[in-house]
Amino acid sequence: MAKQPFACGDCNAILPDGEGQCHVCPNSPVTTDWQGFVVILNPERSEVAKRLNITRPGNYALKVNIR
Ligand SMILES: [Zn+2]
Repeated sequence: MAKQPFACGDCNAILPDGEGQCHVCPNSPVTTDWQGFVVILNPERSEVAKRLNITRPGNYALKVNIR
């Protein structure tokens, strides 16, 4: 079973394998405790992206649980 990747607690981005820090917000906490994998291709046309305040394409978690 593959290890759960980290997701950024600030922008919800799912980080590439082996990375433990978000490129966009390097000071934000990351966690493996997240749910709902979504791929955003066109943020400006995506309701999910608007809801999560996503402005750049990529892989995101719908919900990130930061303590
Ligand atoms: Zn981030």
